[in-house]
Amino acid sequence: STPAVMLSAMAAAARSGVLFKSSAALDTLARVQTVAFDKTGTLTQAKMTVTRFLADDEPGTLALAAGLESHSEHPIAQAIVGAAREAGVSPVPVRGAQAVPGLGITATLDTGERVWAGNLRLMTREGAALTPEQQAALDGLNAQGSSSVIVGLDTRVVGVMGVADTLRPGIAQAIADLREAGVAHPVMLTGDRQQVAQSVAHDIGLTEYRAELLPEDKLRIIGELPGPVAMVGDGVNDAPALARADLGIAVASGTDVAIESADVVLMQNDLGRLAGAIRLARDARRTVI
Ligand code: ADP
Ligand code: MG
Repeated sequence: STPAVMLSAMAAAARSGVLFKSSAALDTLARVQTVAFDKTGTLTQAKMTVTRFLADDEPGTLALAAGLESHSEHPIAQAIVGAAREAGVSPVPVRGAQAVPGLGITATLDTGERVWAGNLRLMTREGAALTPEQQAALDGLNAQGSSSVIVGLDTRVVGVMGVADTLRPGIAQAIADLREAGVAHPVMLTGDRQQVAQSVAHDIGLTEYRAELLPEDKLRIIGELPGPVAMVGDGVNDAPALARADLGIAVASGTDVAIESADVVLMQNDLGRLAGAIRLARDARRTVI
């Protein structure tokens, strides 16, 4: 049975908004060496907005993109569908919409043309390329820390969009507190581009980050980082990584599947509570041993 001191630590953690699903989770948190963070929705608020738009036919391209993204649950998709709504543009109906994890989304128009929206990897897979002007726009966005979406029709790029996110309030302090609590390796894992990851990492005081990762890369890296490894995530995409890590931590604003896959839930979506929970867990473990 669970020692009383562990139960009381779990109760104290719960009062501070950190919900442990088991005493084993508390024991693992006490020993954690690495805390890996998903970027979008975990370090950021995932309330994205379209900030820049480069297209010869802006309403037409936005209508295409919104048609595609109305079939996606990605935070980028919500930004694009919202931008179309605000611009009074009706999404173009598409057939056979398919999410490509870590890349974007593809579908077919009634005309039989293929339509897609996503990152450079998806563009390459679709056999398309950027014009020098599009390339410059994309690099400019990413250098500012903005994510980007490339919209294509068959093998032609028809638009480039900038999508900006906001950091979670207090996130830099939360990372500093984790270091203070003895976490040797806070690290960000993201599917976004290198320049975007670098900009976010710099802003929040993270020295370790890995970018341009596919979902399977994230799983592999979690197995390679110094353990025990805790993974903090929010999205459907994060569920496998939360399950793979020694300790899965979900933010309560995340999707149900992330919360179900996790061992710990941050009820107030506040990563700042994690350092305190680590201290509680360490004290309890020390008393038991
Ligand atoms: P992360 O949350 O770390 O950014 P994801 O695996 O969710 O990781 O996404 C990785 C990248 O794939 C995104 O940065 C984006 O470029 C692209 N992507 C994924 N889904 C979409 C989508 N629905 N529309 C546009 N781009 C997408
Ligand atoms: Mg996420």
